[in-house]
Order: sequence, then C-alpha cells, then structure tokens
Amino acid sequence: DIDQLPNASANGRESSVTPADARLQAVNEAQEFSPDMLDYMKNKWNIANRGFDYNVVAVFGSQSTGKSTLLNRLFGTNFDVMDEVSRQQTTKGIWASKARDADVLVLDVEGTDGRERGEDQDFERKSALFSIAIAEVLIVNMWENQVGLYNGANMGLLKTVFEVNLQLFQQKGSPKTCLFFVIRDFTGVTPIENLAATLTKDLERIWAGLNKPPGKEASLISDFFEFNFAGLPHKVYAPENFKNEAEKLKGRFYDRQNPAYTFKPAFHKHIPADGFPQFAEAIWEKIVTNRDLDLPTQQQLLAQYRCDEIMRVAYDTFAEHIKKYRVQLESGKVLEGLGKETQQYYLEAIEAFDADGSRYNKEVYQKKRAEFKEKMATALHVYYVQQLRNLHKSALNLFNERLAERMKGDDSEFARKLNESRQEAMSYYSRIAEATKLHDADWDGDEYQAQFEIEIEEIATQKRIEAMGRVLGKLDSFITQSLVEPIEVLLNEGPNDVWKRIFVVFRETLASAERELSKQLAGFESSDSEITAQVQKMKFQAWELMQKTIKSEFVDVKVLERLRHRFEQKFRYDSDGIPRVWSAGDDIDGPFSAARDDADALSQLYAKINVPESELDPSIVEDERFDPNAFVVLSPARLQNLRDRFKREADLLFVEAKRSIVTNQVG
Ligand code: GDP
Ligand code: MG
Repeated sequence: DIDQLPNASANGRESSVTPADARLQAVNEAQEFSPDMLDYMKNKWNIANRGFDYNVVAVFGSQSTGKSTLLNRLFGTNFDVMDEVSRQQTTKGIWASKARDADVLVLDVEGTDGRERGEDQDFERKSALFSIAIAEVLIVNMWENQVGLYNGANMGLLKTVFEVNLQLFQQKGSPKTCLFFVIRDFTGVTPIENLAATLTKDLERIWAGLNKPPGKEASLISDFFEFNFAGLPHKVYAPENFKNEAEKLKGRFYDRQNPAYTFKPAFHKHIPADGFPQFAEAIWEKIVTNRDLDLPTQQQLLAQYRCDEIMRVAYDTFAEHIKKYRVQLESGKVLEGLGKETQQYYLEAIEAFDADGSRYNKEVYQKKRAEFKEKMATALHVYYVQQLRNLHKSALNLFNERLAERMKGDDSEFARKLNESRQEAMSYYSRIAEATKLHDADWDGDEYQAQFEIEIEEIATQKRIEAMGRVLGKLDSFITQSLVEPIEVLLNEGPNDVWKRIFVVFRETLASAERELSKQLAGFESSDSEITAQVQKMKFQAWELMQKTIKSEFVDVKVLERLRHRFEQKFRYDSDGIPRVWSAGDDIDGPFSAARDDADALSQLYAKINVPESELDPSIVEDERFDPNAFVVLSPARLQNLRDRFKREADLLFVEAKRSIVTNQVG
C-alpha cells in the first residue's frame, strides 16, 4: 500500500527519500515561492529536459478530504497525510513532487480550512487560482454528501477563482483546463452521472453569475474548462473497492491508450519543462500582488451593501429636493438661483452619506462616495444643459431689447450702442452659466457659449445692415432734394452760366453728403476702406442722379417750352416787362429777330455742358462706368431738329403779331 511506504508521513520520522520521492514546498506558509524548483526539476525529478513532454496535475478541495492520500495513491508521491491518530495538522503551503514512473508534476495544496475556522480564505483562493492557471488537470476532491451544497463543495471559492482567472489569465485561444471531480466515499446509490449532472448545473450557474471582463461577457464555461468525473468508494469501509477504483482511476492518468486518458494535448500550457519554475513563479507573483483577490472579504461586502443602502436613502432625499426645478426649467425659465440651491442640496446629501457611510471600509466608502457624487452630478447636469438652453434664448432677448432701447429711431453711434448691448447680454450669459455649475463637477459649457456668441453675431450683423440701410436711405433723399429741384430751377431760368452754377450745386451737395456720410459711418466703426467705398458709391450715384435729372429736363417738349418762353419774354414784353400791344407802324421785325436770336442762343447753351471735365470730382471721372459723352446734352441732329421746330413756332407767333395790328385797327 503506497500510504504505508516509509516516510509517507512527515510527522517526526526521519526522511530518506529517493530522488523521485523528493517533495518540495513550492510555496511556503509566508506565501513565498521557492527558489529551489528548477534545481528539483533538474536534479531530483529529472524532468527539466523533457521539453513539452510532461504534464502538470494539481488538487483542490476542503481540508482533510483525503487529497494527499489520493495523490499519493495515484502518483506514488509521498505528500503528508494527516495522522489518523493524533489528527495533527499538516504543514500549510503548496507542495510539488513528481509522479513515479511518469513525467507528471504533481501539486498538493495544504491549507487551513478557513471556511470552517471562520478565517478568510485568502490562501485557498490564491493557491486554487495558481493551480488552475498552471495545471492541465485540476482534481476537485469532495465528499459525495457535499455534492449540491454550494458552500460544502467549495463552490463559492470556485466562483472567485473563475472570476479572477478569467480576468488575469485567459486570452482568446488559451489552452483549456480540465476540472476532474473525484467524489470520495462514493456509495453508488446515486449514479455518478447524476452527481455529474448536478455539479455541471452548479458550475454553469456559477459561471452565469460571474463578473466577466469586457469582451468576455458572452463566454461560456466550456470555452475554458472541460469536466471529468469519477467516484471513489470509502477507503476504510470498502478498502477493496477503493483499491480497485483507485487503480482504474490511475489508468486514466497513466495509460495513453485509455479512451478516458486525462492529459489531452488541448490542456497543455505549452511551457517547456525547464521554463516551468520561472513560469510558475511569475504566475504566483501576479496572484500575490493582485488586490482583487482580497475581495470580497466579508468586511468589504458589508461595506458595499450598507453604502449602497445609505446612498439610496440620501439620493432619494436629494432627488425629492431638486424635482421642483424640472418643471420650471422645462417651461423655459432661467433660474438664477439654480446653481446655489442645488449645490446646497448636493452638499447636504454628501453630508448625510458621510455621516453613516464613513464608518465602513474606507476603500469601499470612498468608491461609493465618488459613485454617489457622480450620480447626483449626472442628474444636475441635465438641469445645467436645460438652463443653458433657456439662458441662450433669454440673453438674446435681452440683447435685442437693450439695443432697441438704445436706438429708439436714432441710428447714430450704432457701434457703441451695439457693443454695449452685446456686452450686457454676454456678461448676463456668463454670470448665470457660471453660477449654474456644480463646484465639484467638471462641466464644459464652451460649446453652448460659442453657439450663443455666433447667434448674437448674426443678429448684430443683421441689425447693422438695417441701420446702415436707413442711414444711406436718408442720405439719398438729402442728395435728391439738394440736386433735382435746384437743377430744374436753374435750367428753367437758363442764365448764361447755367452749367457752371449747376456744377456748383452738385459739388456742394457732394461735399455735404460726404461729410455726413463719413460722420455716420464713424458711428458704425466702419473701416477706412469701407468708408472710401461707400463715399465713392454715393458720389457716383449722385452723378447718375444728376444726369437722369438733366435728361428728363431735356425731353423735346420741355426744351421747346423753354425756348418759347425765352422768345416770348423778349417779343411779347418790353424791357420793363409790360406786355406789348402792337400798333400800325411799330417795328415788329426788329424785336422779332432779337427775340428769336436770343432763344436760339439759349438752345446752343443747352446743347452741351460747357464746364471742363476737370471741374468734376476725379473719383467720378475715374469710375469705369463714367461716360465721356455725358457732357453732350443734345446731339447736333436733335439740336437742329429742335431749332427748326422752334423757328416754325416763332414764325407763327410773328404772323399772329402782325394780324393783331389789323384787328386793332378794325376795332
Ligand atoms: P487532505 O487534508 O485532504 O490532504 O487529507 P489527507 O489525505 O491528509 O487525509 C485526511 C484523513 O482522511 C486521513 O486520516 C486519511 O486517512 C483519511 N482518508 C483518506 N482517504 C479517505 C477516504 O477516501 N475516505 C475517508 N473517509 N477518509 C479518508
Ligand atoms: Mg493534504
């Protein structure tokens, strides 16, 4: 019997192990990894040079369930077995050895049974995680009557181990691990298949409840693990059966031809044997330094539970307080006191949370506190955004109102009025936006503010265009008034220097229009180039207006009318303006030809603007639209035609005058 080999127990007996029997405390009670692993693999177990041609098996299960006994029986190792007489505890740690007659590394875990002793399961968790990460096959050892008992079968521990294993060690395509359930004191009353089904269901339930890392949410337990099951009868009460079944079980580990051979290539971790010690040590270090493994201790679980509860109560009160703002904000109001008031509720809520929460596990409390703040901030951020939207509208209204007040039908100093109104609206916006922010939160309102500023700029541009349009419109009427009527009057009078005088009117009008325009544009804070362009435009428009006026004053009827008028003034009135009554013997021919010549001279005067081009504002002459022929008022042909027509009219008047003498004599 393997159990009865010398040195199978460490209790006091002197060791004289053969190299194959040598066992190593790979991890000691202080949780330190042994520096001697490589040496053992090379010199005691002669396995370091096997390349990939070796296997690793480990064991997991409650204290004193016969794990070491089983390993010794299966692999011919000599791990410590608890002394049946003294019930003395075996040495804590992870023990390693090599199977007799096979290149199999065997790991035995000796722990205190924390669950039963009310201690935390720190070492169990770490060693289980270690085993599952480095072994191809993990023997899960349990009593038959533990099957279906969540705690009894250490299933709770498995859950944590699965969770951390998934998070730390499993990548896509990682080799699977075999979980080999060995049911001890197996009676056979319940067939092994039924026990297997129960265990499988439990495992799947555990898997479903895991916190899975991102990307692995949908993974199945079968993506990472395979299951084997075997029953072993009671070692003491059914020693024969125990022996036979153990022998059969051994065949599954040793006999490669066995259809149930356990070490499938798919489980191999692909670590060359000589690198195994380093690999195992690295895994152990990673496990020991991982803080998640200490979670969840009872203390932390309690802290989480209580902090969640305290948070819920505090949040409810907070939510109740801030509820009232929602309706007001949704109706479009800007709530000036919103920031200050919600800040107050926020601080009160944190105070309430701190009062109870701070007594619990510090780390959990801090984490939950941050979570709580975040949750309140999120709720308040919705208000913040709504407030900014309302603020946007109301600040635009304020801008429009203030600008309108300042303008009141007066377009002067537009730029100043605009700037002042804009400044008021912007500082109103900034003040409220800033006051609405939660002090703790890192909210960014820049986007909203930028949008607001763009819109205010758009309105400002529009208002400027309108005001400028009004100013230019007024200037237009001024020019029209100053030009059209005076030109008409001068043309009707027809003095010899008519054109010179018209040009004086034109120049003076331009000069005052330019002065006025420059003054107005200064109020718009126009740039020099904008002013130059506007002045130029105004001058040329004035020039065109004058030409248009002249043209309409020189339609045929109007010209003939003026010639006739001039003629009649000379012919029908004497030099004192007294109407003439012709008597027989009066000299009609003399006055007639004088009056006719005078009218004719007038037609010559009208025909061409006899002012040098240099009298005109250079900017008008230089304009590409300027027409050099503009100085010709009546073309020679038109002039001739008008003179002919006038002559006929004058002749008629002459005849009429003659005839009136006859009439006078008869009368
Ligand atoms: P371990 O702590 O799980 O490694 O358990 P041990 O191998 O040290 O065994 C603990 C005790 O259980 C020892 O007294 C063994 O003799 C006894 N034992 C070993 N195998 C069996 C078994 O199959 N059935 C029962 N009932 N006891 C066993
Ligand atoms: Mg043991």
